[in-house]
Amino acid sequence: MRRSTIEHVLISYEKLIQTATTILRAIGSDKEEADIVASHMVEANLKGHDSHGIGMLVQYVKQAASGGLVPNTPAHLRSDSGVILQFDGNRGFGQRVGKEATQAGIDRTASTGLTLITVSNTSHLGRIGTYGEQAAAAGLVSISFVNVIAFDPIVAPFAGSEPRMGTNPICIAMPGLTDAEPFVLDFATSVIAHGKARVAWLAGTEFDEEVVVTPQGERTRSPKTIFEGEPAGALLAMAKHKGSGLALAAEFLAGLLSSGGTMQPGNPKDGSIVNNITTILIDPNRLGDIEWMHAEYKAMVEYQRSAHQADPENNPILIAGEPERQRYASRMRDGVEISDGEWTAIRDAGLTLGVDVGEAA
Ligand code: NAD
Repeated sequence: MRRSTIEHVLISYEKLIQTATTILRAIGSDKEEADIVASHMVEANLKGHDSHGIGMLVQYVKQAASGGLVPNTPAHLRSDSGVILQFDGNRGFGQRVGKEATQAGIDRTASTGLTLITVSNTSHLGRIGTYGEQAAAAGLVSISFVNVIAFDPIVAPFAGSEPRMGTNPICIAMPGLTDAEPFVLDFATSVIAHGKARVAWLAGTEFDEEVVVTPQGERTRSPKTIFEGEPAGALLAMAKHKGSGLALAAEFLAGLLSSGGTMQPGNPKDGSIVNNITTILIDPNRLGDIEWMHAEYKAMVEYQRSAHQADPENNPILIAGEPERQRYASRMRDGVEISDGEWTAIRDAGLTLGVDVGEAA
């Protein structure tokens, strides 16, 4: 991403947690919920996904004020048929609802070997990789599809220049086998996550590639038209027709199977970010010789890394999940860079609730 002259500050892990917890408590979350949501968001910052970091508090404050997010709401088990667990999020904090539903699925998989979980109508789930990591830490493979409802669409279908979908993320995670760390492939099906466009817009930067299509059908690197355009531009789907197809698959798998619905205009919209998720959890121990899988995993990762690299120092071959672990280590040590614009927006959101998180530095 190109840098602008906008000021940035480095903020420590402690300050990020303290800021998030203060605002979440002011929104009304009890201590336990505030701790879960704050750690999820700050971990997203530490892992390099500022789009799902504490900047989201601005949206959560607005959403709670309008009743579109309801603090202190646990995952509600609507239906249990053994290998299928269906939850209703009832607009609770997604970071809490998602964690609880995933844990219930992990517990169930101990007896079933395979569990399908759906969660409908939860407030924003945040970084979906968090649930992939949770499952991987329990030794399980997970496959998740997510769609967005209640919010306006922001992603254009391939060949379209008007938004029709959310950024519908997909996550596939495998447990770390033997000495290897987990494989965590977790991405928005848009060319960039909406939050990354927001962070760039607040920071006054633009992207190295075209990420947005204007209503007139022009492609641009600037996220401005998404937030300031009248009518707004749309994010492009990743990988042309393939990404657009995957986004629609997530719309169907998450929206239909959870009963939470899709982005189609017959469903109500109130400006809240609401997610549905469908996750399949698999115990690899039930499927074959785990020692052989370990060896095969390791050999395949080594084979990947053995490919010739044009610029191994600046652009090394990485395995999904590695960039996040590398950033976690450096950001934990040095702090997280946040733009003045983003910090001001967070501070202002807190002030509307009567709390002042103070200056960034
Ligand atoms: P991204 O483009 O940064 O891609 C991340 C994935 O690619 C990770 O699995 C990462 O390990 C892997 N990766 C990155 N660089 C790599 C490299 N050089 N080599 C190998 N693998 C590499 O992610 P994104 O699309 O910007 O999504 C960011 C986050 O936004 C995700 O965590 C996603 O779950 C979240 N999201 C959430 C929602 C929601 O509604 N809750 C919507 C959209 C996105």
